Amino acid sequence: MQYSEIMVRHGELSTKGKNRMRFINKLKHNIEDVLSVFPEVKVSSDRDRTHVYLNGTDYEPVADALKKIFGIQGFSPVYKLEKDMNLIKSFVQTLMTDLYREGLTFKISSKRSDHHFELDSRELNHVLGDAVFEAVPNIKAQMKHPDINLKVEIRDEAVYISYEDIKGAGGLPVGTSGKGMLMISGGIDSPVAGYLSLKRGVDIEAVHFASPPYTSPGALKKAQDLTRKLTKFGGNIQFIEVPFTEIQEEIKAKAPEAYLMTLTRRFMMRITDRIREVRQGLVIINGESLGQVASQTLESMVAINAVTATPIVRPVVTMDKLEIIDLAQKIDTFDISIQPFEDCCTVFAPDRPKTNPKLHNAENYEKRMDVEGLIERAVNGIKITIITPHEEKDEIEHLINNLL
Ligand code: ATP
Ligand code: MG
Repeated sequence: MQYSEIMVRHGELSTKGKNRMRFINKLKHNIEDVLSVFPEVKVSSDRDRTHVYLNGTDYEPVADALKKIFGIQGFSPVYKLEKDMNLIKSFVQTLMTDLYREGLTFKISSKRSDHHFELDSRELNHVLGDAVFEAVPNIKAQMKHPDINLKVEIRDEAVYISYEDIKGAGGLPVGTSGKGMLMISGGIDSPVAGYLSLKRGVDIEAVHFASPPYTSPGALKKAQDLTRKLTKFGGNIQFIEVPFTEIQEEIKAKAPEAYLMTLTRRFMMRITDRIREVRQGLVIINGESLGQVASQTLESMVAINAVTATPIVRPVVTMDKLEIIDLAQKIDTFDISIQPFEDCCTVFAPDRPKTNPKLHNAENYEKRMDVEGLIERAVNGIKITIITPHEEKDEIEHLINNLL
């Protein structure tokens, strides 16, 4: 027999008092986004549980998708039966016969919300327990930590039977902690930074700087594919492509080699901040990791960060490269990140970037440029795509002219 639904237990959100329904609704919406690739699946939520109705869809791929969604503590696949005692008995017998192996222990935990049902929960435990012994004489009953805890729930409309508890991803439902702008390159670190923010419920919009023709369509696609991997944890993500060619050419023309990196990062930060403001994000998230490359010294951080007072969240800042790679492999972004498409920073990277840039120098070089005009043109040229778990469903967002 096939599972009819999956019963989802909510995570940490049970502690959130009167915000509870808001959390649950977000989670429901995220589950719908992620499971949108299964057209027959329907989702409904109440205060205690979210129900994922399979309507004939295979259980395994849906379960694999659910395991990744933040805000889910655990879930159980459920069989649905008619409320007929003979049927329930023989179903339980067949199930336990299938599951039996030497030494197996079990218990029956019945619950009855339909109080008109012929047996109460104690009687149900008894009758069904006896039925199991009849079918599998060698099985042992055990009340504490049995191998199989068979849950039988008599509701108004039907009987629901489950015995597996599968662990969920934990974390908070994406979107319950407000919005942040993730600066996503094609590298290893920024997708991991995105993943870690999603884990704590941050709704991210991905901002990517592209410098065609110096950067290829492949580099852009790579950043989008990385973003798509992140949709598995909480649903669709807006991907914002920023035209960055003019700015990079201008920096290259007007500033000394040693400061290219610092200035590039300062522009990226300012533009991301401008987009954040319009789109009502609260913070900026990036993949900086201390000491990894020249641009990631504390001195660099000071010189780059000086362009904004917006909080910058750096989830991987203290992680070793190998720790980041471990996570990248776990979330399946690593293989995409190591594809050989150069992003805008690599193309314009100086051989010897300054490891201790001075803020006043950076500011002085910028006086040679029309900083405001450059930023405005970049921001007015952004393109937004809604990235979904399945590429065919991506949508270009309709932009109102001069939205920014
Ligand atoms: P990553 O592996 O994330 O590319 P990295 O180790 O290569 O990081 P840098 O190149 O110094 O580090 O970039 C630092 C951070 O700046 C990145 O983690 C990312 O958040 C942001 N960033 C770099 N390039 C881009 C880009 N083209 N578009 C958007 N953000 C970028
Ligand atoms: Mg990089």
